[in-house]
Amino acid sequence: MVRAWDPRIESMPKDELEKLQYRLLKTLVYRLYSFSPFYCRRMKESGVHPDDIRELGDVAKLPFMVKSDLRDNYPDGIFTASRDELVRYHVSSGTTGKPTVVGYTAHDLENWTTSLARALTSVGLGRGDVVQVSYGYGLFTGGLGLHYGAERIGATVVPTSVGNTERQIELMQDLQVTAIACTPSYLLHIGEVAEKMGVSIKNDTQLKMGILGAEPWSEQMRKRMEETMGIAAYDIYGTSELSGPMFTECTEQQGIHIWGDLALTEIVDPQTGERLEPGERGELVFTILQKEALPMIRYRTGDITMMDDAVCACGRTHPRIARLSGRVDDMLIIRGINVFPSQVEHVLMSIPEMGEHFMIVVDRKGSLDTMLVQVEVSREAFSDKITDLMNIRAKVVHALRSILNVNVDVELVEPGSLPRFEGKAKRVVDKRVI
Ligand SMILES: [Zn+2]
Repeated sequence: MVRAWDPRIESMPKDELEKLQYRLLKTLVYRLYSFSPFYCRRMKESGVHPDDIRELGDVAKLPFMVKSDLRDNYPDGIFTASRDELVRYHVSSGTTGKPTVVGYTAHDLENWTTSLARALTSVGLGRGDVVQVSYGYGLFTGGLGLHYGAERIGATVVPTSVGNTERQIELMQDLQVTAIACTPSYLLHIGEVAEKMGVSIKNDTQLKMGILGAEPWSEQMRKRMEETMGIAAYDIYGTSELSGPMFTECTEQQGIHIWGDLALTEIVDPQTGERLEPGERGELVFTILQKEALPMIRYRTGDITMMDDAVCACGRTHPRIARLSGRVDDMLIIRGINVFPSQVEHVLMSIPEMGEHFMIVVDRKGSLDTMLVQVEVSREAFSDKITDLMNIRAKVVHALRSILNVNVDVELVEPGSLPRFEGKAKRVVDKRVI
């Protein structure tokens, strides 16, 4: 391994790592059965006792936990730490219902920071780097999470948060920022604003890396950003229920390392809840092995991905998850076929005449679903003749139909005409909801 924050843990032999996970799981289950009324009731309802956990795979005997469990017990009904042990709260935005509250003990914050220290070291960051944290600071976990992780490895943090993009670009230049952490759509926005200011991210800044997440993005989008901005772009994963952003890819860019001593990963069929094998795509389920304030056993994240159990080329033994394909609830069902917005992005990004921004509009005519993809063409393609645009449109329609197996209509629009997002991009308008 080239460089690691904690080589002893990160390259621990797989069998030892699994023994450690089993020991932590067993301790967690006994603790919650004894001290958490919520978990004790859940285990009794599903007829499972801590003594039934005799090997790591027995985690599958335990009941799932879902987001509504947190909402139903708002604000702190599932907490297992007393109020005076808590040192911080984060609160989710609650866009689809009641917000969820996550509490942290000092030990929880320490594990979160350690997780990111390992992750940021694995992408090659360290002392001497200047990290611009352009995730939101506040109740959202992104800003503060990255902030403490980057400080821990000795990097210098510029806590810009989201917004005021022109100033972000000025600071990026003046403070010689080497890495930025933000959503992929916000980095695209920064690139566009920089261009208008006459600043080339590639030639006029020291930026060499993006740590990008909080929304799904495609491999094609990565290639494009890496080429146009002259950076290496790394995927980061986490949700507030786990602590916040915790895990990233390493420099191999072959999946996100999930630190096995902190989290036990499973992939299940979103419909049946059955466990799937490595390489099979399904819903990501986490058991957080060392959390004190808000323990999570078999938490269903709603994120779709697959697991790779093999030792990584970087030497790290901890399992990896693939780039997310979307969310269980983002999945669109168009005439009975499952469609993820990320598939659309993947197709569009592979066509050179397309810009980075698109919208999917789903509607219903009579009893049939319709799907319209509006996409901005690139500036170069837009200045070409109309006949060329007609040909490009036909190409896009063909590419989308052959990948999605769905009848799609395409509308090419002028560069800059679709809405831009500073946080998570909202790329789907579903008009079928009556
Ligand atoms: Zn690796």
